[in-house]
Amino acid sequence: MTVYKSPVADQVIPQINSFSFAISNPNNTPDSHPILTDALTKRVITYGDWKRTTRRWATGLQSIGFKRGDVAALFSFNQVDYSITMFGPILLGGVTTTVNSAYTADELAYQLEDSGASVIVAHPELLPVAIAGAKKVGLPANRIFLYGDKAVDGFQPYSATFPPESTPDHLLAQPVNLNGQAAAETTALICYSSGTTGKSKGVELTHVNFNSNTCQVSPLEGNVDHGENIAMAVLPMYHIYGIQLHLMYGVYNGVRTIVIQKFDPVGFLKAIQEFKIISLNLVPPQILMLVKAPIVDQYDLSSVRFVMSGAAPCSADLSRALMKKFPLVQFRQGYGMSEMSPASHVGLYHIPVHGSIGRVMPNQEVRLVDPESGKDVARGEPGEIWVRGPNVMKGYRNNVKATKDTVDPEGWLHTGDIAIVDKEENFFIVDRLKELIKYKGFQVAPAELEALLIAHPAILDAAVIGIDNKEQATEVPLAFVVKAPGQENLSEKDVTDYVASKVAAHKKLRGGVRFIEVIPKSAAGKILRKDLRVLVQKPIQAK
Ligand code: AMP
Repeated sequence: MTVYKSPVADQVIPQINSFSFAISNPNNTPDSHPILTDALTKRVITYGDWKRTTRRWATGLQSIGFKRGDVAALFSFNQVDYSITMFGPILLGGVTTTVNSAYTADELAYQLEDSGASVIVAHPELLPVAIAGAKKVGLPANRIFLYGDKAVDGFQPYSATFPPESTPDHLLAQPVNLNGQAAAETTALICYSSGTTGKSKGVELTHVNFNSNTCQVSPLEGNVDHGENIAMAVLPMYHIYGIQLHLMYGVYNGVRTIVIQKFDPVGFLKAIQEFKIISLNLVPPQILMLVKAPIVDQYDLSSVRFVMSGAAPCSADLSRALMKKFPLVQFRQGYGMSEMSPASHVGLYHIPVHGSIGRVMPNQEVRLVDPESGKDVARGEPGEIWVRGPNVMKGYRNNVKATKDTVDPEGWLHTGDIAIVDKEENFFIVDRLKELIKYKGFQVAPAELEALLIAHPAILDAAVIGIDNKEQATEVPLAFVVKAPGQENLSEKDVTDYVASKVAAHKKLRGGVRFIEVIPKSAAGKILRKDLRVLVQKPIQAK
């Protein structure tokens, strides 16, 4: 067996409640330090406010009957207090599930039901969707709370549950003691991911999973100075990449973080200039924008020193172009998946290796395995990345089969990503074995779109694959559709409009629709996606 490990020594990972870990703060950040600032409203949360308000929210949750093991759902764009709402339930030994803010009521309802959420905190703009989603699963309206400080249509802000401002600290909720094994077994977060196959599943991450990834990345930060750093949180806070970097790592290190509600080029560029942002954690299409969009030249971005890319492949050409345009910028790429809290690999800012996802992080064992034979491949040969370590999820919620299919009895998580490794043990992703499509870093599960397509009365069968869109540095979903008998009039627009009306915007069929006679399948009925990929290269005769 060839096991790749980090050249950096393993780190001590505290086996404690993740809230206690987050406030253990190795940098002695003063309580007056402004750790979170809203880029638009300029609302500031200091480190001292953060600790106290999280405990007030936990106390409020207790007052409405929320107990250990209960689940709260967050349904919002990025908020300056998103981390407060996330840590309140976790502090109590409860669970937080974060919901994509673009979700429709059906998509939200699925997650509420599957996670068993009993409380929702929603952004006021998303209230109608939150109400509709909650209604579908019978969650009472008085369990929906809002971000902000105003009631809307009788729905209260979450702060309405707080004990009085004057309540002394010792009367506020204390973090539940989870020392040792309990921290390794108790779920803190449920993020949703389709994993290697099928529909979206609840990835259960424990307190130790959550703590570990911050410990693992800490010795790899090069010359980033946490006290001086000004980071921008533009990654969505409902996705584990944003959660780990900004809500956990950022709080733990007391990093001054400027929060952007949602990405738009002008707001993003303005905020970099205004707040003199030093470090940016991005996805490849945002890096492409920095390199190519003419509007970028209208802003002073000279403060930026560190750019990290993750969640999707960043090509060597793209990172080289970024460093050429911004010579003071150091760049690195990270790789991971929700099931790994999220990262297993990261590069070093001071030694860029373009096109590489970096080296294995400490406390991590990695193998490259031939998926057919189950044997490790020779160095230089492509193999599926298998990962073992404290950051690997507990499992998929209520889904023993999917868990067993993904994490084997020896604890190796089979990622479904194919990589090669060079002599210096830099890893390079070369292919993806699994079905997953990534649109600008967002997950699109083919199985979900296929189920939706097949439910259309004019569609007999369907298969969805991802195709590259180089101009936008992303993949886009494309559907192969078999028309039902007598449905010759079904058009590409009918199909794309139908899908668009049912799903969040990132799942739209931006790659188009191809009509086909029959979907190629194996004898066992599995869609032969490789064959479909070949078909995409050829023009197809529409029927
Ligand atoms: P998610 O769970 O949403 O983070 O998606 C995880 C998947 O995103 C991985 O299994 C990869 O297929 C892909 N991914 C994440 N980071 C990278 C990267 N740096 N390069 C290539 N693919 C990536």
